[in-house]
Parts: sequence; structure tokens; C-alpha cells
Amino acid sequence: MVLTVGDGSCLPAYRRLKLKKEKGFTMKELQGKVCLVTGGARGIGSAIALAMADLGADVVFNYQTSRERAEEVCRSVQGKGVRCHAVAANVTSEEDVNRLVQETQDALGPISILVNNAGITRDRTFLKMTKAMWDEVMHVNLDGLFNVTHAALPSMINLGWGRIINISSFVGLTGNFGQTNYAATKGGINSFTMTLAREVARKGITVNAVAPGFTDTDMAKAVPAAALDQIKAITPIGRLGTPEEIAHAVTFLASPRASYITGHVLSVNGGILM
Ligand code: NAP
Repeated sequence: MVLTVGDGSCLPAYRRLKLKKEKGFTMKELQGKVCLVTGGARGIGSAIALAMADLGADVVFNYQTSRERAEEVCRSVQGKGVRCHAVAANVTSEEDVNRLVQETQDALGPISILVNNAGITRDRTFLKMTKAMWDEVMHVNLDGLFNVTHAALPSMINLGWGRIINISSFVGLTGNFGQTNYAATKGGINSFTMTLAREVARKGITVNAVAPGFTDTDMAKAVPAAALDQIKAITPIGRLGTPEEIAHAVTFLASPRASYITGHVLSVNGGILM
């Protein structure tokens, strides 16, 4: 049986245990929370949507092009006994994002967990990079972050509780050949995370980033096989990460267990950077 009122996180641990034993309840850490994940139809975003559902959160995610996959993911999330909506929205459009946040709140209630996951690469060495490639990556990775966070933050301030988790990348800490545009956005996401964390800490909201290493998704499939082999060779754990391994770090930061962590960039990278 599942406890449906709140997430129980406000109860002291001994009372939660007692409740569990006495009533046979299964307490889920994020029960009663509404989580918005950007780019949830595939890759790391879909793993995050499913992992949030495992902890009892209701989930809304947006997609831009992957409609069929969005429907599949939504069904899988609902199969875990929580509510889920998938909404078509481009994070670069303020109008789309405002509609996404409004529809989320109308359907499920105020957003208390936001995962800014949507991101793109347009790789080329700097001299060969066009202004259009630069702009496209800035628009999705940084303007998207601004648009969604700006629209979702007021509901967290009203609740006096919130979790914002931004998906960065280890290349935001190291740089990477052929990725001046992408690495600049990921470094920017890290600085944004630390700055917003300072601004909203007293309002009960934590802001953190997860910086994945190479992770086995469509984004990594764009990397030539020889380069992937090289990456595996220099990664101490010796393989790419899975989307689920990234999602576990995200749900941890969203959970009550991470209540004293803010402004942190958590590396989940198999040891490629230490
Ligand atoms: P992916 O498989 O390529 O998925 C990208 C996601 O972003 C898709 O869901 C896509 O939606 C969404 N998206 C792209 N542009 C969008 C837009 N304008 N509006 C709304 N959604 C948009 O990538 P991934 O590997 O899962 O990456 C997820 C995040 O992890 C990104 O921020 C990426 O930079 C970061 N990351 C990935 C790796 C890696 O090795 N994979 C490493 C470090 C960091 P549609 O499919 O609907 O278009």
C-alpha cells in the first residue's frame, strides 16, 4: 500500500519507520512532489523521468521532436503508479515554456522539482564553427535554462521548498576539442547553478548540477567509434555511463537526503576527471 498524503519527509525518521511498520505503508521519498524534466523523451531525460517516478514523484516532461518516444516514456512512467504528462515545447521559446509550466501546474499542481536536462551539441573546431552553430547551442543550453527556470521558480518560492538540478557536463570543467560552444554553455551552467543557489538558499530551494561523463545515449552515438574507444580507454571505470547512473545522482539531489547540498556540481563520470 502506498501512502498518498505528502512525502512524509517532514516526519522524524523514527515516526516514518513506526508508520511503515504499523500500517505496512511503502513510503516513497518524493511522493506528492511534481517534477518537471526538460527533454524527457529519450536519453538521460527519460531515465530521470522514470527514476523520479520510482521515488513517487508525479512527472511532466517536454519533448521537441520525439513525440512517439514521449508517449512510450509517459506510459512507462504512469505504469509506476504516478501521474505523467508529456508536452510538446521548445525550451528556446518563452511562449512554449510559459505554456508548459502553466499546463503542468493546471494538471498536477505546483512544480517543486525542476531538472534542466535538454541540451544539444553542434561540434566543430573553433575556426570552422559558424555563428549559427554557436548560437544554436547557446539558445538551447543557456536560453532554455533561463526560460524554464524563470517560469518554474515562482512556484517553488511560494511552496518554500524546491529542488533545481541542471545537467551540465564534465567538459564544462575541462573543455573539449571541437566543443567551444558546448563547453562554454556547460561552464555557464555551473556558474549559473552556484549563483542561483546563493540567491534562493534562504527560500528553501537548493540548486545543484550533475556533470556527466560520456553517457550511452544518442548524443554519444554521434561520436565516431574510434573516439569512443579512446574515451573508454582513458576512463578509469573503462566504459561509458548509463543514463540510469546519471539519473540516480539527480534523484539523490532531489531527495530530502540532499537537503544540505546546494551550489554543487556533482561529477558522475567514471573517473575521467578527478
Ligand atoms: P540526447 O539523447 O541527444 O537528448 C537530448 C534531449 O534534449 C532530447 O530529449 C531532446 O528532445 C531535448 N531537446 C533538444 N533540444 C531541445 C529544445 N530546443 N527544446 C526542448 N527539448 C530539446 O542527449 P542526452 O545524452 O540524453 O543529453 C541530456 C543532457 O545531458 C544534455 O544537457 C547533455 O548536454 C548532457 N550530457 C550528455 C552527455 C552524454 O555523453 N550523453 C554527457 C554529458 C552531458 P527531442 O528528442 O524531443 O527533440
